[in-house]
Amino acid sequence: MISQPPLLQTRSGTVVEFTGVVKEFSGLRALDGFNLTLHAGECVALLGPSGSGKTTALRVLAGLESTDAGSITIDGIDVSALATSKRDMGMVFQSYSLFPHLSAGENVEFGLRMRKIKPAERRSRASAALALVGLEHHFDRFAHQLSGGQQQRVALARALVTEPRVLLLDEPLSALDAKVRVQLRDEIRRIQTELGITTLFVTHDQDEALAIADRVAVMRSGNIEQVGTPEELYSRPATPFIADFVGLSNRVVGIVRDAHAEVHGTRLPLIDPAVTEGPVRVSVRPEDIEFAAEGLAAFVVASSFLGSLRRTTVRLPDGSIVLLQHGVRIHPKSGESVFLKFTGAPVSTEPLEAASVAPHQS
Ligand code: ADP
Ligand code: MG
Repeated sequence: MISQPPLLQTRSGTVVEFTGVVKEFSGLRALDGFNLTLHAGECVALLGPSGSGKTTALRVLAGLESTDAGSITIDGIDVSALATSKRDMGMVFQSYSLFPHLSAGENVEFGLRMRKIKPAERRSRASAALALVGLEHHFDRFAHQLSGGQQQRVALARALVTEPRVLLLDEPLSALDAKVRVQLRDEIRRIQTELGITTLFVTHDQDEALAIADRVAVMRSGNIEQVGTPEELYSRPATPFIADFVGLSNRVVGIVRDAHAEVHGTRLPLIDPAVTEGPVRVSVRPEDIEFAAEGLAAFVVASSFLGSLRRTTVRLPDGSIVLLQHGVRIHPKSGESVFLKFTGAPVSTEPLEAASVAPHQS
């Protein structure tokens, strides 16, 4: 047998495909005809509110849950009947799941021991995996001697040491404090890119999803509402749900006419020019409204300094509240009268129920 090189290698090129997957829990559809393709070597973030079915999607791929309908293929082969241990996946979960009675190194070796790999090779591969996550000097530490971030690094090394075809991460950073979360997020992205391992990263945190993924799939009620690159989702949200969930968005009342949204006297281009005419709620990004010398009159409610930018809340004459995001050199004072204009970036809309059309809309 050829001995393992010291560096971890993964078989890149694995493609995962969910087609029409249904999973019910006592009548509730956690996955409702779920479709998603992970391309070879790609990191896809599954983003969505709590209960939208993210964990269930990951668990059916791992074989930890059965499916009620649809298919899941890995490199074109249906894995529905395959046990978890045969699916060749590395997994990291939110809670630190290290065995407390084993050292970091022994934790990482665990999967290799299960595969009956000889001790010397186990040791060298575990060391290489720990080196990959920057913990080469922590082989003999126990979980209680490691910080939360270090424990998740060990969990990542343990997931990768068997050179799985696919890496599955379910909210792996959610229990960590903000600074460690960002560090480890960037680290996971670096390692994922280096190894070229096909990865599914589950999170409810939009910043995390945008930062880590090649593509983000936004889930809602057991389905994917939109999938695209972080840039696509941010600049061309297909629905107000996406616009709300990915980045900040104002919702203002308007009317769709002549393939434009009319909002407070301004005509804005539509992301989807085919939407039905009539009263709508329009999603406008805070950076797509600016202060101007003339235009829409408003009063400043409050303004907060956020380091590299400032967010200012204003009240329009109809009483509605709008959020602006702008450079820190502009410093509006509360109570001040200002004028606003829309930058003209394309917007997404959703129909307003006839009953909820505000009587005061201009
Ligand atoms: P997410 O990870 O997006 O928060 P989940 O996939 O965990 O969502 O859950 C999706 C839905 O399925 C939720 O309504 C949840 O309550 C339900 N669910 C998940 N797992 C189970 C289970 N083992 N038994 C019953 N209901 C479940
Ligand atoms: Mg979950």
